[in-house]
Amino acid sequence: MAKKGRVFSGIRPTGRAHLGNYLGAIQNYVALQNDYECVYCIVDLHALTTVEDTENLRQNTYEIALDLLAAGIRPEETILFVQSQVPQVTELHTILSMVTPLGKLTDLPTFKEKVRQNPDNVNYGLVGYPVLMTADIVLYKSDIVPVGVDQAPHIEFAREIVRSFNYRYNTKALIEPQMKNTVIPKVLGIDGKEKMGKSLNNHIELASTPEETQQRVMQMVTDPARLRRNDPGNPDVCNVFSMHKIFSSAEEVEMVNRDCRTAALGCVDCKKLFAKNLNKNLEPFRAKRAEFASKPEQVWGILHDGARRARELAEATMKEVREAVQLPE
Ligand code: SF4
Repeated sequence: MAKKGRVFSGIRPTGRAHLGNYLGAIQNYVALQNDYECVYCIVDLHALTTVEDTENLRQNTYEIALDLLAAGIRPEETILFVQSQVPQVTELHTILSMVTPLGKLTDLPTFKEKVRQNPDNVNYGLVGYPVLMTADIVLYKSDIVPVGVDQAPHIEFAREIVRSFNYRYNTKALIEPQMKNTVIPKVLGIDGKEKMGKSLNNHIELASTPEETQQRVMQMVTDPARLRRNDPGNPDVCNVFSMHKIFSSAEEVEMVNRDCRTAALGCVDCKKLFAKNLNKNLEPFRAKRAEFASKPEQVWGILHDGARRARELAEATMKEVREAVQLPE
């Protein structure tokens, strides 16, 4: 079946993926492969803007590659690669930075937020982050970028940069990417309050053992008003129930919804049921991950092959860009 266009997305190498990454992004990456040509990039250069200690960067890149492959990324059709292995992206970043007003970059809410989070590490790369992101997207002539609502301004900004470049150099070399709004659920961490993330240590890693997973699930915060076993609970305010809705059968969801409210079901049993279902759901993922992990050279081979294919696309775009800017061939 003919594909509808080319999708690009980048994922940061933050090590092993967690449930929030899976439900929020990775699952969508896998599904998009059915309708689009997909280019997925592990953005290690982007990671450098906030990671000072790079001791684990290469390992973290490998770990996220394992997660993506185990989740169902099909490298024979999808281009999966590491950003730094396509040097053309840094060349395009430099060229695009000449048509990007500095004031706009420093005004972006995401930049201000990063400054607030890392006041001691406000580096030049952080300011140019959206320009590098634009270079990533347009280098592969991607039509579509899947985004959640909060990322929409980034893509709008990328479109502005592309327009400025095409106008300044009187060319159509770069394509304005379109946003594909994706329903990205906000997955709460085990604290039941904040978005799941490693920095808050409220996450559940996909590649944990079933025992570790159960331990994490048992730490999940439930309905805060349910103080004793015999108190009726309210599943509508409980994160465990939200997870049941994703990982448990319709009958189990109905049972939890009913029996929690009458206190016929206690939180311990409810969590045990969720942990069992989550582990069952993750079984094929874990088996596939272990298989890939037993052959690291195959995983790196996939990434190198992806980079080779990405470089071919990138070089074709850069030929047009150099021509437009009148840089020597
Ligand atoms: Fe949440 Fe389940 Fe406890 Fe109800 S029984 S409060 S849904 S953990």
